[in-house]
Amino acid sequence: MAQIDQNKDILSKDEKYIWHSMKPYNPATILVVAKSEGSWVTDIDGNKFLDAMAGLWCVNVGYGREELAEAAYKQLKENAYFPLSQSHLPAIKLGEKLNELLGDEYVIFFSNSGSEANETAFKIVRQYHQQRGEHSRYKFISRYRAYHGNSMGSLAATGQAERKYKYEPLAPGFIHVAPPDSYRCNEDHQLNPLELESVKEVDRVMTWELSETIAGMIMEPIITGGGVLIPPVGYMKGIKEVCEQHGALLIVDEVICGFGRTGKPFGFMNYGVKPDIITMAKGMTSAYLPLSATAVRREIYEAFKGTEEYEYFRHVNTFGGSPAACAVALKNLEIMERENLFDRSRDMGNYVIHQLQNMLQNHPHVGDVRGKGLLIGIELVKDKKTKEPLDVQRVNKVIETCKQKGLIIGKNGATVAGYNNVLTLSPPLNIPEEDISFMIQTLYEAINLLK
Ligand code: PMP
Repeated sequence: MAQIDQNKDILSKDEKYIWHSMKPYNPATILVVAKSEGSWVTDIDGNKFLDAMAGLWCVNVGYGREELAEAAYKQLKENAYFPLSQSHLPAIKLGEKLNELLGDEYVIFFSNSGSEANETAFKIVRQYHQQRGEHSRYKFISRYRAYHGNSMGSLAATGQAERKYKYEPLAPGFIHVAPPDSYRCNEDHQLNPLELESVKEVDRVMTWELSETIAGMIMEPIITGGGVLIPPVGYMKGIKEVCEQHGALLIVDEVICGFGRTGKPFGFMNYGVKPDIITMAKGMTSAYLPLSATAVRREIYEAFKGTEEYEYFRHVNTFGGSPAACAVALKNLEIMERENLFDRSRDMGNYVIHQLQNMLQNHPHVGDVRGKGLLIGIELVKDKKTKEPLDVQRVNKVIETCKQKGLIIGKNGATVAGYNNVLTLSPPLNIPEEDISFMIQTLYEAINLLK
């Protein structure tokens, strides 16, 4: 059992100087990481933890990859910076590489974070309609339970009230619809996409809001932070068709689903859809350096061409697409392809899901084990018949037990609605098989201690 008893001096400085995200400071649960290697992180006292969340769903090729550190070092020496109002080689090469993955039709705007990538997408979509004389189109449809970022627009798109209500009013013009919840909804997975109730709902909302006011829709292929909600097979296709019928653009947020997390280069590729805009971040550099991108279909970009300088897309990002970050992203993608990590994510994900489904099927509090690739959710309930979510205290207990045993897992859901009950696994895509066994066994033991 890991001894979690970190250096008191460092902890007191941490408390004094660092404002941590999400929860109030708690020395009993904070982890100060000093080193990391593979799927493991080591705290300042030398305790090791298997990081089954790959940081925040982002260290896709694992920790400690020297090639990535070297790519950054080399690029920083060669050319540390130049803005993308002009250009530089790593950005051009990365733009080409992303197109190879996406299918050669996209123009790339670089930023530094997922929030910025989404913010950029909203501005591009609104201006795109303006460029074409459709001045009334400004509204975006997004979904409850989804997370799209921390800024006033991306948070407005977010469908988790607990993250929003203290900061309102946020950017206006964001309207939410309910996502299909694979575990609770009655959607028949065999239905034609347009017959799915959750697709009809988007059509109804766009109609009632008036098509001419709708700019676009933003969605993740699979809602991740809201509890790993796998949609019915035809759902995304149906949404794309509805968007087209209403003249709205579809933005697909691949910040978590992208770069192999769901067993394909991008999550939308599981669903046979071609998005108008794709936003990406985290796994693009495996978090070794900050980088994000908004990939825009060429024909949308074309609508901006030829405009006067003062009318052009007035959006700048000082650090976005910095040379070293682009060099790291290129090396990161090279590693993913060389090590076949997209397929590995699919195969290992299937294995973990089946193992956990078998091992936990008779557990009274495990309602559902689901996922795609190495994006996995385990939904804990009070009662399997009523599907009432398990209380967060007991969910937290499982997470704490795992940590005591040296395993970091995640928790996701929709807090205001009482759904704070989905344990998440999202390890590096190259996690070795022995680490997978440790992850499964440790989680199984922790869940079995649930009363
Ligand atoms: N979109 C999704 C789906 C995310 O999960 C996140 C972050 N977890 C974001 C956007 C925002 O990314 P960032 O934290 O890099 O701004």
